[in-house]
Amino acid sequence: MVPSDEEKEAIGCDHEDTRSENFVWIKPSPSEKVHSPAQKRQFCPKCGKIKYQGSATAKKMGFYVNILKEIQRKMDVLYKRKMANSKLTQVQVRLILKELEEDEEFNDRFSNNQHNQWGHFKFAIKRHCDIPEELVESIYRDFKG
Ligand SMILES: [Zn+2]
Repeated sequence: MVPSDEEKEAIGCDHEDTRSENFVWIKPSPSEKVHSPAQKRQFCPKCGKIKYQGSATAKKMGFYVNILKEIQRKMDVLYKRKMANSKLTQVQVRLILKELEEDEEFNDRFSNNQHNQWGHFKFAIKRHCDIPEELVESIYRDFKG
């Protein structure tokens, strides 16, 4: 069945860029490390979301899938060496990915950024399995380059 326009709205917005005369002034968030008190920012004229214009643009899901695979590989090695009590199972990976896929904000590469995504990602891992945070962080650093 083809969704109606109203249903499409509920699923999510495909975001349009505003023309420059329609930019809005907003205060940057503390995490953005911007020295100016306010910035001109682009927003989506359809849903009103502010576009993220920093350098840490949000990643596609494949980036996080690869990180999970690497965590899984490393946990297997640690488990075999009896340096870890648990592994990252396929079921846990599926649950983590499902949670992230259903999270509209996580997948919104228009307004979201990589820092926020990383926080969500770590939180989702913690909810489903017991993986040392240092391991997760070190793999992230390798992938980020
Ligand atoms: Zn929008």
